Amino acid sequence: MFTNKETFKREFLNKLEMMYGKTFLESTPRDQYNTLGNMVREYISSNWISTNETQRSSNHKQVYYLSIEFLLGRLLGSNLLNLGILNTVEEGLNELGIQLDDIEESEADAGLGNGGLGRLAACFLDSLASLNLPGHGCGIRYKHGLFDQKIVDGYQVELPEQWLRHGNVWEVRKSDQAIEVGFWGEIETVEKNGEFSFKHVEAEKIMAVPYDIPVVGFETTTVNTLRLWNAEPSRYPTGKDVLVYKRETEAVSEFLYPDDTHDEGKILRLKQQYFLVSASLQSIVRNFRAKHGRLHDLHEHIAIHVNDTHPVLAIPELMRILLDEEGMSWEQAWEITRGTISYTNHTTLSEALEKWPVHIFQPLLPRIFMIVNEINERFCQELWKQFPGDWKRIEDMAIIAHNVVKMAHLAIVGTHSTNGVAHIHSEILKHREMKSFYEIYPERFNNKTNGITHRRWLIKANPQLTSLLNESIGESWISKPRDLINIKSFSKDASFKYAISEVKKIRKQILAERIKEQTGVTIDESSIFDVQVKRLHAYKRQLLNVLHIMYLYNKLKEDSSYTIHPRTFIFGAKASPGYHYAKKIIKLINSLADKVNNDKQTNDRLKVIFLENYRVSLAEDIFPAADVSEQISTASKEASGTGNMKFMMNGALTLGTLDGANIEILDEVGKENIFTFGLTSEEVLHFYQYGGYHSHEYFHHDKRIRQVLEQLTSGYFPDTADHFDAIYDSLLMENDQYFVLRDFGSYVQAQERVNTAYQNQDEWLEKSILNIAHSGTFSSDRTISEYAKDIWKISPLKF
Ligand SMILES: *Cc1c(COP(=O)(O)O)cnc(C)c1O
Repeated sequence: MFTNKETFKREFLNKLEMMYGKTFLESTPRDQYNTLGNMVREYISSNWISTNETQRSSNHKQVYYLSIEFLLGRLLGSNLLNLGILNTVEEGLNELGIQLDDIEESEADAGLGNGGLGRLAACFLDSLASLNLPGHGCGIRYKHGLFDQKIVDGYQVELPEQWLRHGNVWEVRKSDQAIEVGFWGEIETVEKNGEFSFKHVEAEKIMAVPYDIPVVGFETTTVNTLRLWNAEPSRYPTGKDVLVYKRETEAVSEFLYPDDTHDEGKILRLKQQYFLVSASLQSIVRNFRAKHGRLHDLHEHIAIHVNDTHPVLAIPELMRILLDEEGMSWEQAWEITRGTISYTNHTTLSEALEKWPVHIFQPLLPRIFMIVNEINERFCQELWKQFPGDWKRIEDMAIIAHNVVKMAHLAIVGTHSTNGVAHIHSEILKHREMKSFYEIYPERFNNKTNGITHRRWLIKANPQLTSLLNESIGESWISKPRDLINIKSFSKDASFKYAISEVKKIRKQILAERIKEQTGVTIDESSIFDVQVKRLHAYKRQLLNVLHIMYLYNKLKEDSSYTIHPRTFIFGAKASPGYHYAKKIIKLINSLADKVNNDKQTNDRLKVIFLENYRVSLAEDIFPAADVSEQISTASKEASGTGNMKFMMNGALTLGTLDGANIEILDEVGKENIFTFGLTSEEVLHFYQYGGYHSHEYFHHDKRIRQVLEQLTSGYFPDTADHFDAIYDSLLMENDQYFVLRDFGSYVQAQERVNTAYQNQDEWLEKSILNIAHSGTFSSDRTISEYAKDIWKISPLKF
């Protein structure tokens, strides 16, 4: 089908006619996309079947990665790439007079995630398959992924996302493998020969129907599976309105919750979590029983990983299966459960730590609650033995305390491994946030610094850079990304530097065109592309970036002798719909853009762009075009970050705080090749603990700060009335929790260093090359190899 472009063209035209009953000339890009997508899926199927068959029949240990989010983006391009047929298809299509890029535009992003956490899960799937590791994803098939963002008069407006509107060529519905998940009802205790057993009666059942998506490894025959569960009506409960039941059931997989760092505490969210976990575990156990019969050695054959606390009910759910269905003793069930499950912590932000009120949890999941209660009692007894009389410690560490269930505590107690996602984050977990758990279970804690798949974020997103790398150092880096270090020897090579600058130039042109199309604004392609793209959150400090731009603009206006290299500040960010503060920052960016872009006195040197609807497919055009990567979170707040890695791999220089993986980027590239500034984590945590920071002092003593803050509330931005008062208040009345004013001066200086450095293109290019050269360690292949070896104990399965 894809052996050469001639056969491809023939089959493509045939297939198109068969599917749509029209000729090629009459076909739309969507017809062409669907045709090609179906061809590719069929092409995948024989390897998919044989991978499944091999995994079913071998005794090899396998991992299931449970995540409430998978931010996949588009799959056509990455599948073509991984299958090794991208060039054949591209050339074939070109001969038909069409561009693959245009066809790809017809594919909706699978946006089943908010940001970094969901994207990490997607990168991990790509690495698992590419490393021939038997590892599968389990998630939810949300009918609506993360909302589509429109900007209207500078304000964010949310529209329901509709990725399934035109169908999904990649999924296969497996009705025969559906599973029932029970909610509500009562627990009956049955006594037999002095032994108690428990029966869940009058439960309301929801049918979980799997939709499987193939996960294609890069240039290998491995095709793993991402199983997404769809919620559908099962048996209609008596005494309940049929339509109400149908609506409530379907609601479970209707929407992704649009908040990434906030614990919502809504009952539907808990339903989603248990739905994912119960369907996934029942399905895993069913397959295991079919092969092994009993479950006593489950942990030797299966690893289950929970991505953050959202799927942590996997612990009591597996206990339920082992106790109630398998009839095991508590002790045996506990050993198997702990031996099977491992957990990744993603944040230390207290507002993000999941807590469920007992009054919500218990009636919805009565048996699961009983088990969590028992886990808690046994854990507290263990603590009591180790720390007799230390009530405070037990109260702090308990899984259930003051009528709330603390999911992170359950996760640490009920698994054999807890990992952080960057070195500093893991240290903060061990020595601060989860210190008391580290004291009793030191062997459970470890670090796995996040990574990104270099296949999507370099090879696919930046074919121009990929070609240059291949011509210069060969292709070994594609399978061994650390070999990118080989370009280090070209970092002073004038012709290589020139080639790198040409690649960047092309990518900046591509992005500039897109910006022109979307916003109507013409940007200077030789300006510094200074980019901050990520979810909008106070801790990520888009505000610090904005205040600096306001200052820079003021300075350019007031001081005609002040010169800078022209700069284009580019933002992309969605704010959670209920996060009013974040939405005000979006409006502020847009108001500033309006002002700055229309000021003829300065707009040859300064432009501000807000790109709406930031998502994976847009990101793929942004990273390759960036010169400067803004990673300016308050130190200690960003667990790792992964955007930082995508920028680095595409040759942008980081302007960042000593937070998350920025520190490891610094360690890799050295301090000459990164711009760092601001408070350290230690300093921030010290302020939180002991006080001593007074933001108003910075307001009074720094006239640059005073000027920009006064502009927020003085009518300087037309038609915004008192809209930015809350921003002003957060900085002054609420003492600036995220140290924006504290870090302002240091940030301005770092920005001045960026400006100076860029003007020496020769040195800048050398720095850029060194960033690419050292980025190999941030491939998720490295991360996944570490998980496989240290946590899951799995190895490649080749056939
Ligand atoms: C990588 C990525 C993120 C995470 O970015 P951070 O800067 O690490 O917060 C969020 N959204 C999308 C679409 C991404 O590709």
